Amino acid sequence: MTLRIGKGDTHEFQAETRQLLDIVARSLYSEREVFIREVISNASDALEKLRHLQVTGEKIIDEELPLEIRISTDSVKKTFTIQDTGVGMTKEEMIQNLGTIARSGSKAFMQQHGSDNSNNIATSIIGQFGVGFYSTFMVADSVEVYSRSVLQDSPSYHWTSDGTGKYKIAEAEGVQRGTKIIIRLKDDATDFSSNNIVQDLIKKYSNFVGSPIYLDGECA
Ligand code: ADP
Ligand code: MG
Repeated sequence: MTLRIGKGDTHEFQAETRQLLDIVARSLYSEREVFIREVISNASDALEKLRHLQVTGEKIIDEELPLEIRISTDSVKKTFTIQDTGVGMTKEEMIQNLGTIARSGSKAFMQQHGSDNSNNIATSIIGQFGVGFYSTFMVADSVEVYSRSVLQDSPSYHWTSDGTGKYKIAEAEGVQRGTKIIIRLKDDATDFSSNNIVQDLIKKYSNFVGSPIYLDGECA
């Protein structure tokens, strides 16, 4: 499948999101493997939402696609990629969900505690709410998201950011239903492009997942 990305437009993260991004990306070195738990749980959530739509008889695009999660590692390109065949996101959902703090809990926590003592704050946020999608910026120089919503006639989109305050969204072609996230790893995080290391982390963080997970084409 050939992916094509249009010209697109640039958006800014909400102020609190940027603040949280900074704290999380800079101060949580030892816990950064948890990004794997977060992206797997989001993929799993998206697949559960799709199952729900199927049960309620909604019309679904790419109906024949199996419900699964595919993770791939590339130690030459220094990437970690995760793709699911779940509900995907529209452009509005990408702006709403990837550009703002989705967890109201973390937002309230940030407002209560301000931005000093950032290490403790970051650790508590991860402990209490999880950091979600933003945790990818702990290990990423840049993150790319391709997504196609299950909704009929919704175009697909490409979202990209280096996590420093702005993100870009452009229409994309050749995207299948669901979401594909490509994490371009920082030079000190290339461990996460190693098949063996990622295999262990998938075992550690995917107990709760009800869909099959493949790593580099094999059952993980
Ligand atoms: P949470 O999972 O608690 O909502 P996250 O930061 O992990 O917070 O994710 C934010 C939102 O982004 C999700 O609620 C979902 O709407 C959207 N999202 C993230 N990953 C995916 C995905 N793989 N498929 C569809 N939507 C996603
Ligand atoms: Mg999540």
